[in-house]
Amino acid sequence: MKNIKKDIRELSKKEIQDFFLSHNAPSFKGSQVYQWLWKRGTHDFDLMTNLSLEHRTLLKTYFEINHINIDVQQHSIDGTIKNAVKLHDQFIVESVLIPTSKRTTACVSSQVGCSLDCIFCATAALKRMRNLNADEIYDQVIAMDKQSKLYFQRPLSNIVFMGMGEPLMNYNNILLAIDKIIDPEGLAMSPRRITVSTSGIPKMITKMAEDKVKFGLAVSLHSARQKVREKIMPFANKFPLTELSKALTFWHEYTKKEITFEYVVWEGINDKKEDIQALIKFCRQIPSKVNLIQYNQIDNSSMKEAPPEIIESYIKALSLSRIKVTYRRSRGQDIEAACGQLANKL
Ligand code: SAH
Repeated sequence: MKNIKKDIRELSKKEIQDFFLSHNAPSFKGSQVYQWLWKRGTHDFDLMTNLSLEHRTLLKTYFEINHINIDVQQHSIDGTIKNAVKLHDQFIVESVLIPTSKRTTACVSSQVGCSLDCIFCATAALKRMRNLNADEIYDQVIAMDKQSKLYFQRPLSNIVFMGMGEPLMNYNNILLAIDKIIDPEGLAMSPRRITVSTSGIPKMITKMAEDKVKFGLAVSLHSARQKVREKIMPFANKFPLTELSKALTFWHEYTKKEITFEYVVWEGINDKKEDIQALIKFCRQIPSKVNLIQYNQIDNSSMKEAPPEIIESYIKALSLSRIKVTYRRSRGQDIEAACGQLANKL
């Protein structure tokens, strides 16, 4: 029978130390392995050069390192890099590295496909195949940190969970991955540089607040009118805006953190005065800012972004109400790396 090896990254540092002790080796060997795995993101026991051949062989006998591979890397004319990431079971997810003059942001996926049904998003058409495990999430980050150093001569400055999938439907694994990202023995990144974006699942937002997470929260709102929101995000009939607003108020009370609302303005959908007024009213309940995002056309969709005058009227009205607002231009559109375009087309 084939010996099924355990993925060593499922072990804690202590468990790896104990493994060495039980094989008559000093426990600090375990700390060294842990560093290779998590600080350096090494995927090959033979690259762990401060271990003896004997210890590397011992590890290979008992363990393997299940890891991602970047299958295809595409470079946009604006510098954005889209990675097709192959998982150990051949599924593919996408992750995107976005450089600006001051930052390099890694946009990571949390699920293969997505179980939500936002009608404007290409990932929704893929259906959810499975959740990513914590290592697969962490590996995307490590891979993009390496790319950032290689192509832009600096480490990653920010991480956003805005790739494929709904992070709050894979909550435990994103927490585990974030633990490693902020761990001084991992990437040692400040949680303030991490943002989790959700389509708005009230129960999970409340849980996150109770868990006292330290990262930022963005909510894909797109409409502050229940009927309209349900049309474009049908699952929202299970998660009404009244509950979302309660959960977000709780989040703010607990964390004191401002929330970012992501919002696309579409022609004929949310381009009326009532839509703007509803958004202002919603924002007044919760310390927040609005990030208007450019709509990226997806296949077989008749939806169109509203013309600039309408976007301008949103910006004016929100500013007059002292609600912070920005309009974000898309990056990586030419390689279909922009918001909502991740669909494993390669
Ligand atoms: N499921 C999470 C994480 C995905 S983030 C969430 O919904 O927040 C992806 C962001 O891109 C979300 O804000 C989403 O609403 C937005 N988006 C999806 N399709 C888009 C499109 N075609 N154009 C612009 N933004 C889009």
